[in-house]
Amino acid sequence: MVPAFSDQLVRWQKSHGRHGLPWQNTRDPYRVWLSEIMLQQTQVTTVLDYYTRFLQRFPALADLAAADGDDVLGLWSGLGYYSRARNLHRCAQDVVRLHSGQFPQTAAWLQTLPGIGPSTAAAIASFCFSERVAILDGNVKRVLTRVAAFSGDLASSTQERALWGIATELLPRRKLLEDMPRYTQAIMDLGATICTTRQPACLLCPVQTLCRGFASGTPENFPVKTRKLKRSAMALSLLWAERADGAVWLERRPAPGIWGGLYCFPVFGSEEDLLAALPASLQDRLAAVPPFVHVLTHKDLRLSPMRLALSAREAKVDRLPGDGAWVAREVWTGLGLPAPVRKLLG
Ligand code: SF4
Repeated sequence: MVPAFSDQLVRWQKSHGRHGLPWQNTRDPYRVWLSEIMLQQTQVTTVLDYYTRFLQRFPALADLAAADGDDVLGLWSGLGYYSRARNLHRCAQDVVRLHSGQFPQTAAWLQTLPGIGPSTAAAIASFCFSERVAILDGNVKRVLTRVAAFSGDLASSTQERALWGIATELLPRRKLLEDMPRYTQAIMDLGATICTTRQPACLLCPVQTLCRGFASGTPENFPVKTRKLKRSAMALSLLWAERADGAVWLERRPAPGIWGGLYCFPVFGSEEDLLAALPASLQDRLAAVPPFVHVLTHKDLRLSPMRLALSAREAKVDRLPGDGAWVAREVWTGLGLPAPVRKLLG
């Protein structure tokens, strides 16, 4: 099955894979790296706009490395998982500082850079430098566990390593220069378009005859992963102070932590804490906004905003809590803001 698997996937990709995505048809590691980081935990359709905007603002790695961190976070605003943006910026700076502005050409070296894990490193190395290394993101795990009817529990790192071994075994062995990038794209495309989580389109699949999961009759039983994400909940009160001219009171969130590095309304553990932080003259002026839930990966945030509308004169007299500052509308629109804050501000 080994050569047949990669051969069939490579052939299928040529005629049936995805070819029109803006980060395809390039071997420029800057572009491939940018897309790979954005695509972690984010849908292709969402990434398209952000990718284009990033390249317009930072056409080359050196532009990103020289950028202000706030500009990078501002441009990332809305994509979520902000540690990706902070690592993106650090990584660009490290490539300039430590590697003379050129990405290293092997997965092993790429992994030494901030925010680049083994699968992302393998994607860059195979797409740009044709290295024979296997990616293993969520889509690829699904494809391979089904093809091999791999019943090991992927919650165990030993089993995940075993699957990585299978992934490496199945890689092309010939014509690597041409076939490695195409194979990597093929297995990504197969997972995204045919071997989907529910109801895989096995009848259209180029490796159906090799697939043990298909032969078992229940390919959806793979992958096996027992550990469930432990979810927790947290209640936060937000002080949404706004001046008549549209400026809002924002402070920078500490990193690490929720919304680390982003600009946010002052955050309190309860409404009582929020009230206690305000001068008595302002407490009666607060207007409660209907609370809502904002869902993070591991946590549900129950957010209760309290709105405080101030005139320019009042804003000068009464100091608001924390280390914040009034930020004019034309400035905050370009800052990195947590998604629920941006939504409230409209
Ligand atoms: Fe996935 Fe079905 Fe193809 Fe097997 S045959 S790889 S289960 S789409």
